[in-house]
Formats: sequence, structure tokens, C-alpha cells
Amino acid sequence: MTARAPAKINLGLRVGAPGSDGYHPLATVYQAIALYDEVKARPSPDGTITVAVTGEGRDVVPLDQTNLAVRAAEMLANRFAVHSGVALSIHKTIAVAGGLAGGSADAAGALLACDALWGTNATRDELVTLATSLGSDVPFCLTGGMAVGTGRGEQLTSVLARGTYEWVLAFADTGLSTPAVYAEYDRLGPDHDANAPAPVVSEPLMTALRSGDPYAVGRALHNDLQRAALRLRPALRHTLALGDELKALGTLISGSGPTCVFLAADEDHAVDIAVGLASSGTCRLVQRASGPVHGARLVT
Ligand code: ATP
Repeated sequence: MTARAPAKINLGLRVGAPGSDGYHPLATVYQAIALYDEVKARPSPDGTITVAVTGEGRDVVPLDQTNLAVRAAEMLANRFAVHSGVALSIHKTIAVAGGLAGGSADAAGALLACDALWGTNATRDELVTLATSLGSDVPFCLTGGMAVGTGRGEQLTSVLARGTYEWVLAFADTGLSTPAVYAEYDRLGPDHDANAPAPVVSEPLMTALRSGDPYAVGRALHNDLQRAALRLRPALRHTLALGDELKALGTLISGSGPTCVFLAADEDHAVDIAVGLASSGTCRLVQRASGPVHGARLVT
């Protein structure tokens, strides 16, 4: 059984003051984009759960129980008392530790592929519950499209949005650790009042998305974590500046970075931006992807 699961980008990300558990409340606008990891689930010869990884970042993705796809398979097996195991193989296109939720996409894909292989017939609600306990971005990778995420990003409300957006993504040489970016964010000392209300998504972004006007969306992109990501990876400033030179409608670091995303006016403009970035030497790899797209799905 094979599932494909999309990467996400955050068109807006507001971060609140951390609670007593250390977690920051978020208000984010997710968009699923046409950049997919593929997760295959085959019968296990010996009843164990294993994983093999090819493609993007194959050397840095863990192959033990910390792999999110393995954790997803274990959780589904525990929930439905399945003992037959599974041999998972993941082909990655999504940059690892790139702020694109690649691990979460693999978890969402593994839930669907294992559910089909084992015939567990989990309901949508059961899958979403498992996804939520696997990680804040996993429910969105399952659902896809566009959504506002609150809480830690896992409480989803769908967004009424028009249009298809053409994105160009610049992958960096190495990933950025999400906890390190949040630690830097706290160190930079945002003027957080511990009693401040939970963050909310920006109204200009929501209005722009309802209008479907990519120019307005480009102007409204924002990310509270960008300053911290740039402190940890100052070279990303050059990549972002190049996007401005290439007349991107908006430039942004996705989530905790380091992937830089650029909004193009149309496909031709996206090709121009991609060519400009690729020849600049400021990033390792350039990818184009449109969005929004559906969430994780079986492809067999
Ligand atoms: P986050 O969801 O924390 O914002 P991210 O989207 O920036 O993360 P991921 O690609 O999900 O980045 O990787 C974060 C870390 O998760 C990696 O450094 C890796 O050690 C671990 N990991 C576990 N399973 C996977 C997987 N299947 N694919 C990629 N990374 C994984």
C-alpha cells in the first residue's frame, strides 16, 4: 500500500508566550503544497515494524523508533491490536528539518498506508486522534488544503480561500532544529506578557486569502519565528533578498526554517524565480510547488 503526503508551508505564523509546560501557543495559516513524500507499507517478514528511507536527507532521517512514520505505525497497531508488523519505505522529496513538516507528512502517510495494509478501517476521527498525539502538524498533513491551526497548531479550522498559488522553495544545506529556533525566539525576548490573550491570525492575510489576490497574499505573509531563524542562519538573508530582486510577490521563511519560500504571480514568474535562485549559489536546491493541494492519500 502506498500513500502520498504533502509538505506544508505557514503563510502566517503568530507565536504567543509559552505556557507553564514550555509550549508556545500558535495561530498559523497552513497551506498544503504539491511537494510529496511517498510512504509504502509492505507485509513484514517477521512481525516487526521497520523503515527504510530514500531521497531527500536520507542520511539524516532516523531509522529507529524515533522515526515519525514508525511511531505512527506503532500507534495504529497498538490502538487496533495488530501484531503483524510492517516494512515501511519512505521516499522523501520534502527537505528534512526544513520547516515543511516532512516527518509529520510521513506519519500521516504511514497511518493511511498501514490502515489499508492491516485492514484496520480506522474512521477519519480515529486517524485524526492518532495524528494529534503524534505531533502538532500531523493532523494538517492528513487533512491538507488550507487551515488555521491554533493551540500548538493541531486544532484546525478550514479557511475559505480562493485561488491557486505558485511557490518557489529554496532548500538550505542543512536543517534547523525547531526547539533551537523557539529557544532563540525566547532569547530574543519578544515583548510577551504572560497574561496576554492567545495569538490570532492576521486579518489582512485572511482578507487577502478570501480575495484570492496573490499580490495581496504576498504582502500579508508573516512569520514571528523568522527573526530567530535568521539569527541562527544569517546567510538566509541573502536568499530572501534575492527573492525581492526577482520580484517575488512575497518572501518568507516557512515555520522554523530554514526553507525560504517565494510567492510568484504565475507559473512563468515561478520559473524565472527558480532559475534566478538556482544560479545564485545561495541555496542547495530549488523546488517549485503549487498549493493548496489535498492531504495524505492512498495512491494504490
Ligand atoms: P517540525 O515538524 O519539528 O517543525 P520540520 O518540519 O522542520 O520539523 P522534519 O522534516 O519533520 O522537520 O524533521 C524534524 C526532525 O524529525 C528531523 O531532524 C529528524 O531527526 C526527525 N524525524 C523523525 N522522523 C522523520 C521522518 N520520517 N522524516 C524526517 N525527519 C524525521
